Amino acid sequence: MIRALALMAALATLPAAARPPRLTLLITVDALGSDVLLRNRPRLQGALGRLLDTGAYYPYARYAYAKCRTAPGHTTLATGANPWRHGIVDNRWVDAATGKLVYAYVDPTHPVLEATQKPGGDSGPANLMAETLADRLRLATQERGKTVSMSFKSRSAIAMAGRLGQAWWFDASVGKFVTGTWYTKEFPAWMKQFNERKVADASFGKKWELMRPREEYVGEDDRSYEADSYGLGRTFPHPLTGGLTAPGTDFYKAYAVSPDSHTLLVEAAKAAIAGEGLGQDAVPDLLAVSFSGTDEVFHEYGPYSWEMQDTMLRLDQALGALFTAAERAAGGRANLTIVLVADHGGATPPEQWAEAGLPAQRIQPKTVLQDVSAMVKERFGPDVTVLMEEMDVYLRGPALESGKVDGAQVRRAVADWLAKQPHVLTAVTRDELYTAPDPMGYLAAVRKGYFPGRSGDVMYVPRPFHVLYYAPDGSNHGTPHSYDAQVPVVFAGKGIKPGLYLTETDPVNVAPTIAALLEMGMPASAEGKPLTEVLTGK
Ligand SMILES: [Zn+2]
Repeated sequence: MIRALALMAALATLPAAARPPRLTLLITVDALGSDVLLRNRPRLQGALGRLLDTGAYYPYARYAYAKCRTAPGHTTLATGANPWRHGIVDNRWVDAATGKLVYAYVDPTHPVLEATQKPGGDSGPANLMAETLADRLRLATQERGKTVSMSFKSRSAIAMAGRLGQAWWFDASVGKFVTGTWYTKEFPAWMKQFNERKVADASFGKKWELMRPREEYVGEDDRSYEADSYGLGRTFPHPLTGGLTAPGTDFYKAYAVSPDSHTLLVEAAKAAIAGEGLGQDAVPDLLAVSFSGTDEVFHEYGPYSWEMQDTMLRLDQALGALFTAAERAAGGRANLTIVLVADHGGATPPEQWAEAGLPAQRIQPKTVLQDVSAMVKERFGPDVTVLMEEMDVYLRGPALESGKVDGAQVRRAVADWLAKQPHVLTAVTRDELYTAPDPMGYLAAVRKGYFPGRSGDVMYVPRPFHVLYYAPDGSNHGTPHSYDAQVPVVFAGKGIKPGLYLTETDPVNVAPTIAALLEMGMPASAEGKPLTEVLTGK
């Protein structure tokens, strides 16, 4: 009797079983490098600022693979794996069977629904080689927990939805959210209704104005290396017409750059919360929202621009409405966990770096391709073809297929040639990827991003401040250097121990941490680990 009472007393002091949050809001801010958030943070007085103040904030998380781009970034966040496991090595690659450039989430048997399918364009998860959080959640809850994933970009939405969530992305050719037939054969009523509201069209003819007085922005508005796309111009105010007289594709593209795109995503997310009943019961749901406007602004104007400063201020505001809606849906803050991450950072326009005195240069991929091709043709004849996607070089052609020319020899020659170029740090063939000496440690990053049959035959890493970009202005990302690879990771709310965590983590740990929080097993290919220091276990 006494022993039984003692046991009961002991049990009573044990914490109640930890329950996962009813709703997890996973926010990706596209191209939000650590540096951009740190620099803008003092001015963030809204929802984003509060999230950093009240959450577990890692200012420094670093992707471990070399090609820091959108599709691999989102897929790593979704799977807890690097591209060497999840297979999404870049936004695009050269398809081994056809020799054509395809998007990572090409899925010919499951085309886009309610918009024209672009040949080789993203539409479904067919190429995804790993399990996502969304997949795991669906199975772990025995098909009761839901994931809805939304973004302006197809690759971001699909990565986060995996195979068993819903993916919605904004299609600029029709000005509405679409999905692929993998996910559904017919739009649910809530999405039909949302699209019918034509929220984007209400911004037609508007001007993107500065949110704060001009003197609060650092630097200059007009810089010669900023891009001028879709009639937006380089300076405030930016007209939102796309140069058209009525809403059409170029308007929607201009809109995608503007902060109004963030407002639209928040509205769409609210419609999803209501339409799918997210957070309504104890079975956890996941709402993944990837804000793409930050990336568009980054590519057009660069990370120091007034446009980026204003975008951060406006995102800080826009997130408030999303957090409020999510809290309400989950039945209060106590049932909600918010995670905020980024898929990569980004380089400064090289001319701006050069102006400041750094050894920077803009490299035209076309020029590199022409030079490599000329060298290959001269040494190995006209029947070897060179293709390039970012820093991956693909070698094709009848001479290689017939064995007339030794492929390994061509690859070696291309790597040797690349290694001698002033903008190249290191180059490696796929034959030597695992055996070549790696004194600087960059090949380790190339390996983590390598997937046979998708990655190049030769891969290289450019020197820091050397920006490979097709455009004569704007900027790019896609290297293992800190400005591209380093991003913030923030957890807040239910089950999270707040604090500033200055240790460098890896975004590969995000999915395992969420999986632990949701009390389910790790995604099948996860190599990251739960960040147990932020988990309260309650
Ligand atoms: Zn991105």
